[in-house]
Amino acid sequence: MQLLKDRILKDGRAVNEDILRVDTFINHQVDPYLMRECAKDFAEHFKESGVTKIATIESSGIAPALLTAVEMELPLVFFKKQPSKVLNDDLYQTMVTSFTKGTNYELTLSRKVIDSSDHVLIIDDFLANGEAATGAIRLVRMAHATVAGLGVLIEKSFQPGRSKLTEAGIETYSLARIASMSEGKINFLED
Ligand code: 5GP
Repeated sequence: MQLLKDRILKDGRAVNEDILRVDTFINHQVDPYLMRECAKDFAEHFKESGVTKIATIESSGIAPALLTAVEMELPLVFFKKQPSKVLNDDLYQTMVTSFTKGTNYELTLSRKVIDSSDHVLIIDDFLANGEAATGAIRLVRMAHATVAGLGVLIEKSFQPGRSKLTEAGIETYSLARIASMSEGKINFLED
């Protein structure tokens, strides 16, 4: 998506070869108009997929996921991150390793909000190693629901997330695909 790629080039900052900071328009301050255009693109792409709910991971996925839910006129569920195991029969939980922090957390879903009638579109800000996305997929499946696909704003294509998801048979749709980065330089994959 050209609008997002232009914004990444203008305001994104490659801290090193692995981490891109987008704090001024996605991760700290959010540009709602840019998020709305991204949401329209996700909604158009997945409009024939029979999606019943949008899901994301707190907190950076919530802005694009909420606007996608508005575009598709569907409910939004966000999976919660909990630092340690809280034993609770009302929850599904799965362990995820954070890309940016290197720590583990329990991704958590209440049994009340997703069930076997749901076909879930997962939306997130970044796809790196695919840990967050595969954790989200595990939770959807623990709830006996199915996954319609994954929509991400920024895919770092030089990291293994996409191939993991492709191997798992999950359709991944990314609005900006980064081929490589270094301090001060960002290269996109050709569309
Ligand atoms: P993964 O689980 O695919 O390795 O990483 C996905 C999660 O890590 C995203 O939800 C995002 O919060 C965070 N993340 C991964 N790479 C980056 C990055 O380059 N910049 C920022 N700001 N967050 C990232």
